[in-house]
Amino acid sequence: MTDYTATRDDDRAAETAEAVYDAADVTSADTGAPRAGVAGCHGHPEAGADPAGENTEALARAARALPQGPHDRPQTMCPAFGSLRVGLRMRRTATVLSGSACCVYGLSFTAHFYGARRSIGYVPFSSETLVTGALFEDIKEAVQGLADPEKYDAIVVTNLCVPSASGVPLRLLPREINGVRIIGIDVPGFGVTTHAEAKDVLAGAMLAYARAEAEQGPVMAPRGGPIEKPTVTLLGEMFPADPVGIGQMLEPMGLAIGPVVPTREWRELYAALDCAAAAAIHPFYTRCVHEIQTAGRPVVGSAPVGVEGTAAWLESVGQACNVATDKIDAAKARVLPAVKAALERTSIPHRVIVSGYEGSELLVARVLIEAGADVPYVGTATPRTPWSADDEAWLRARGAHVEFRASLEKDKQAVDAFSPDVAIGPVVQYAKQKAIPALYFTNLISARPMMGPAGAGSLAQVINAAAANRERFRTMHAFFSTVGGGRSIDVGRAG
Ligand code: SF4
Repeated sequence: MTDYTATRDDDRAAETAEAVYDAADVTSADTGAPRAGVAGCHGHPEAGADPAGENTEALARAARALPQGPHDRPQTMCPAFGSLRVGLRMRRTATVLSGSACCVYGLSFTAHFYGARRSIGYVPFSSETLVTGALFEDIKEAVQGLADPEKYDAIVVTNLCVPSASGVPLRLLPREINGVRIIGIDVPGFGVTTHAEAKDVLAGAMLAYARAEAEQGPVMAPRGGPIEKPTVTLLGEMFPADPVGIGQMLEPMGLAIGPVVPTREWRELYAALDCAAAAAIHPFYTRCVHEIQTAGRPVVGSAPVGVEGTAAWLESVGQACNVATDKIDAAKARVLPAVKAALERTSIPHRVIVSGYEGSELLVARVLIEAGADVPYVGTATPRTPWSADDEAWLRARGAHVEFRASLEKDKQAVDAFSPDVAIGPVVQYAKQKAIPALYFTNLISARPMMGPAGAGSLAQVINAAAANRERFRTMHAFFSTVGGGRSIDVGRAG
């Protein structure tokens, strides 16, 4: 599909007005809200409706693409943080937010707390600019001022809750200015449930744009030139060592690892589309899956986790890439004994419940179960998709209750019902109050390898260390008793 050129990618031909409109519609409208009347994560359902109906179709389409959970407001931080970080991590990419000042303050504070090293553009609004349409003109002017092809490949403009609900039509922004691509997305908290899914919103919009470019003519080759072997694109952010380990697993099949989506620069998008197959390691990347499939490439679910997961995944990838059976067997023979040995060395003799909003909860649970843990509950704030079906079936067959679009309330019920030795996820505070050791998913589970032999050993280490703290938790619980809870906030009573 992809015709690479060594020239700058802003040399491509201008497109027709019709193509511009069509593509802009794809990139800007691919998110939204099931309830257009909700103004924000703390807003009242009756506030802030889309008065002109500008975004109605986009919001309705997004409501179909984004099945909602039992709660209609995010239980994590602002979901737009996910797409914001994706843009901030990309080279030569500028980011502009349109939304309430308090939202933008929180997002930029958190982005810089997590090490963003560049400015975030902001187009403020007032009631007047919102209702008269002047806000759209302000955004357009800001983008025009920013579009310097010497500095940027792309500018990402994000509508937060109020502009999304009010119908500020980012799809009508120019598709490109001075050769700089303009990507407009709506990421309202009432429509995109988790910040994990917001990453897919932006990555999917970028893939859609890049696919349209590749279909029209030569595009830039990957840095370092095209990869000779057929590649496998990985969908979803993961610990940096995991793609390297996956690449080694693929070698005996004559395959190489392609880009990880979200990518770190624009031209990787073309290589991501130009794969032999894509692996939806994070199964909620449904927009990216759509783009890959539209480019004519197959997509496989699950991931190489544990012995059974790794074997099944290598078979799926091999078959999707038309690899001969003996080569698939060779790949399995190389890695599976090492995974098995790692699991046997570091067994987990504990009951663990897993919950989170990263989208990799089912994969973590698989590794834990293969390491000997009893996992009665797996909750994820992300939705069920075809790409998580195998993991769900595998877990259910081993007695785990799998809850998609899990709320914090559901996760807490699981803590009560199963009294685990270790709880993982947003229930940390709740579990610790009950003297149950608990681990944050993002800081302690996602921040280590999960695939292959490395994943098997690494997870056991952290879980067993946490479980060993149970007695200390009990001692502390007995000592502090009810101090700090309910009406007994008098610390002096602890003595
Ligand atoms: S943009 Fe984010 S912080 Fe602001 S109201 Fe929406 S979900 Fe809440």
